[in-house]
Amino acid sequence: MQQLPKRNPNSLLRNRIFLYGLLFVSAIILLTIVFFRQKPLEYYDKTEYHLGTYVTIRVSSSTMSPVTLAEAAMTEIKRIDDKFGSRNNGVIAELNRTGELHDIDKETSFLIRSALEIARNTSGAFDPTLYSLTRLWGFDDASSKKRIPSDKEIEDALGSTGFSRVTYDEELGYVSLVDGAMIDLGGIAKGYAVDMAIAKIKSLDPEATGFIDAGGDIGVIGPKYGNRPWIVGVRNPRGESVQDVLEYIYLYDGAVATSGDYERFFIENNVRYHHIFDPETGFPSRSGVISATVIGKSTMLADAYATAAFVIGMEPGVTFLPRFGALVLLVMEDMSIFRSPGFEVYQEK
Ligand code: ADP
Ligand code: MG
Repeated sequence: MQQLPKRNPNSLLRNRIFLYGLLFVSAIILLTIVFFRQKPLEYYDKTEYHLGTYVTIRVSSSTMSPVTLAEAAMTEIKRIDDKFGSRNNGVIAELNRTGELHDIDKETSFLIRSALEIARNTSGAFDPTLYSLTRLWGFDDASSKKRIPSDKEIEDALGSTGFSRVTYDEELGYVSLVDGAMIDLGGIAKGYAVDMAIAKIKSLDPEATGFIDAGGDIGVIGPKYGNRPWIVGVRNPRGESVQDVLEYIYLYDGAVATSGDYERFFIENNVRYHHIFDPETGFPSRSGVISATVIGKSTMLADAYATAAFVIGMEPGVTFLPRFGALVLLVMEDMSIFRSPGFEVYQEK
């Protein structure tokens, strides 16, 4: 009888250990894959006070820390505030002080060109030269004393406002102001800052999603969880809180901005004096609008056209804004709502 060759018990044990080890390692690899695939995207929020308002960044990334992304974006917003704020020590403050600037950088050139173009498109309803007016009424800063100036003071201020008082030569990189005009980019800089902060995030992670909200100027970084819209509420301008919403907008990309008479105002003798001026009268605009919301391709455009729409009101002019990529929703004093054609597309789920 032939004997079966005896198996070495040691090698048997080795084989088993090897097999179990292999199984164990595969299980770990499998679990890791499942864990990372199914890990829900978490949003990180960061809020700081810049540009005269609260700025909230909500961001998520599957490749890098959202904290890093939010910090980089906030740094960018602060940089733009420092550079373009009329009260800060940046390029606009210098222009207002000296009346002219040579060799302006590309970014300054872009922002001034954009502001002047929107002023032309809206026949001056948006006007980036109202600094003497906003200062006169005390709307240049939260800490300034707000008051109703005399008619003479307003007339004098109107003598140094108007976008035709700006000379801008793109080729030479030259900008100058006449008649003591002073630039106030308060109606456009917030939107621009949001766009730049989004660009910063995208440069670090092109797949990042979320949004940035600078006091009601909202730019989308990317759809919620990559495929769902962000739901933006249009505030009841006479509501008690931000939770009091009149209308909803669904945004996958682009931007939306609201200009309202409830953001900054004072009331005297039952009259509300707010921070959006009619460049023709030098008084807070009285077009019957109490809030203007604009959906646009960029936050900068939405921001500036919302200010313009507030001033233009229900006049025929507002129906031309979609031509410049600005869809408008106006809330009027009697709480009636006007929508420009196309706006409703963003109100369907
Ligand atoms: P908010 O700051 O509440 O978002 P806006 O975007 O409408 O409001 O900007 C209002 C700011 O723009 C004012 O505080 C002022 O600095 C400036 N501004 C006021 N009226 C006008 C106007 N007609 N055109 C351009 N800028 C304006
Ligand atoms: Mg605006």
